[in-house]
Amino acid sequence: MSLKIFINGELLPLEEAKISVFDHGLLYGDGVFEGIRAYNGRVFKLTEHLERLFESARAIFLEIPMTIEELKQAIFSTLRANNMKDSYIRLVVTRGVGKLGLEPGKCTNPQVIIITDTIQLYPPKLYEKGIDILTVATVRNHPESLNPRIKCLNYMNNILAKTEGLNAGATEALMLNKDGFVAECTGQNIFMVKGEELYTPHSNSGILKGITRDTVIGLAKGKGIKVREDFLTRYDLYIAEECFLTGTAAQIVPVVKIDGRIVGDGKAGRLTLELLKEYRGLLINPEVTEAAESLEPGYSRP
Ligand code: PMP
Repeated sequence: MSLKIFINGELLPLEEAKISVFDHGLLYGDGVFEGIRAYNGRVFKLTEHLERLFESARAIFLEIPMTIEELKQAIFSTLRANNMKDSYIRLVVTRGVGKLGLEPGKCTNPQVIIITDTIQLYPPKLYEKGIDILTVATVRNHPESLNPRIKCLNYMNNILAKTEGLNAGATEALMLNKDGFVAECTGQNIFMVKGEELYTPHSNSGILKGITRDTVIGLAKGKGIKVREDFLTRYDLYIAEECFLTGTAAQIVPVVKIDGRIVGDGKAGRLTLELLKEYRGLLINPEVTEAAESLEPGYSRP
């Protein structure tokens, strides 16, 4: 059975799910998106993701032609149509079809697309061993040019950084902001531990304000750990006791090497692993997840 894709109110088989070559999402990267996960038939932090989508859209003068409630139902329907309990959900809103030329006013019909993909998990070993990251030359977008808090379809800044990191042999690339402070990795936020306190770049230091980041901050505070949202340098990271990345896809990944320097004792940190365990415990908690009802219990996509 072919994967069903939601496009503007219709659930179409993958082969028929098509977007015009005149869509400004394709021509200019004009649009916004979210990456969301469902675990065991429940969608994690759905409201938070949809609120961020609407904020991104507002910042780029894009009116989403559906309400939050309608988007939720559309996501649930797509999950149900594909019988998916565990999924990585890609929600995209493009500017729609227009003439060549930048003016968004020429586009009349924003396209709402929902893809429920299977998620390729990192191997469990990686969460025990940790990864190495490397600072790359490409700096994160200047917030007064294109604020990284807008989750828009133009990811070239991140793609360049990711490629530079991979070419240099690192697993993930670390990006600095225009002032030289630590910003984030190409699709994850960064945290460090020093002296029993948790540090992460301030939300206005040129980063996407990650939903996982906010969740981890909440978990740490709940454990009585002091959390500092600060302007961090590479030096701060080099002398950290622990470091980890956060993101919807990656969850919490320990970092054991930064720019060739070993972090702490070179192993996944104690607090990092504690937070990962607590984070995983939250993923099916009814208080922070929403059920995509009537999914067949026990069904899992082949
Ligand atoms: N930064 C960037 C640039 C990202 O693309 C992502 C993934 N959406 C994140 C951080 C992590 O955000 P979240 O925890 O909301 O997935």
